[in-house]
Amino acid sequence: MAVMRNFLLWCSDNPTLRNKIPQLSFVQQALKRFMPGEEINDAITASKEFSDIGIPSILTRLGEDLKNLSEADEVTDHYLSVIDKIAEENLDIEISLKLTQLGFSLSEEKTFENFDKIAERAEKLNIIVWIDMEGSQYTQRTINFYKRLKQKRSNIGLCLQSYLFSSHQDLNDLLEVTPNIRLVKGAYKEPHDIALRDKFRVDENYLDLSKKMLEASNKDGNRMVFGTHDLKLIEAIKKEADILNYPQGKLEFHMLYGIKTNAQKQLVKNGNKVRVLISYGKLWYPWYMRRLAERPANVIFVLKNLFSK
Ligand SMILES: Cc1cc2nc3c(=O)[nH]c(=O)nc-3n(C[C@H](O)[C@H](O)[C@H](O)COP(=O)(O)OP(=O)(O)OC[C@H]3O[C@@H](n4cnc5c(N)ncnc54)[C@H](O)[C@@H]3O)c2cc1C
Repeated sequence: MAVMRNFLLWCSDNPTLRNKIPQLSFVQQALKRFMPGEEINDAITASKEFSDIGIPSILTRLGEDLKNLSEADEVTDHYLSVIDKIAEENLDIEISLKLTQLGFSLSEEKTFENFDKIAERAEKLNIIVWIDMEGSQYTQRTINFYKRLKQKRSNIGLCLQSYLFSSHQDLNDLLEVTPNIRLVKGAYKEPHDIALRDKFRVDENYLDLSKKMLEASNKDGNRMVFGTHDLKLIEAIKKEADILNYPQGKLEFHMLYGIKTNAQKQLVKNGNKVRVLISYGKLWYPWYMRRLAERPANVIFVLKNLFSK
């Protein structure tokens, strides 16, 4: 399993495969399981369908690691237009994006300027903008960026990854600014000295961090969210929330489009909050490879599409 995961994560970074694989029609076919389509309207349509069953959404246009800063302006304009659309149609949709999609690896100031434009427009409409957490080379810089922006904007949230050894320290550090946090396990290929490898320990760390987050939210009222499809872990977090008298209606889970949809519905039925993260866009390759790496059995699903042609 670990070998397959590492291979798929290696593929996600490989420039040749990044050009070739998205052109294969059986891969495009298999992708539909995780993505309603490449266009914003595909994502909005899916979002309305989820909204009809009581699950609001978060939208993200795929793309990362820009090589040219001029592309960052296009990405910014795109998100501004999405926010306008959300407002026009009065939809309950939040936004999530990666800083490298706004040129973080090229210019931090330009990224700040662009992100702030998006956050400002969203703030007027009470829309939260979430910052995804990328590979560990960006962790500390992303936390610093978040803390700086949090002085200006209240409507921003940040993702933290439980596989990182630094996650407890990072959380403590962030608690100083009453953050909104979405905790995930972590999806990147990280070295041994930076990240836990063993699933049991990643899960254990996730639960420890969850406790701290719930306590902080009880104290300061900030929004703490659990981004996971791990049903055992979700049960453990619910138990912890009960012990801490954390209101059931405030306990919030985020999951990805196409994964554990029945569990999403069940959580809503039980009175918890759920949001579904819907991805769209043409630059889906590295993101899709990370989804395959999370569950290598997904590769069989892709191959079935090859043989069903
Ligand atoms: C809302 C949200 C936002 C995220 N944002 C980030 C981010 O910013 N940075 C980051 O590094 N990671 C992010 N991730 C990904 C995350 O780090 C994990 O890689 C991913 O969620 C899988 O972990 P899990 O918690 O679901 O637990 P796992 O133990 O991996 O999975 C639990 C169960 O869920 C199902 N499952 C999980 N993944 C898949 C899949 N791909 N296909 C089919 N079934 C699956 C399987 O049944 C599996 O047994 C995000 C995840 C979510 C839900």
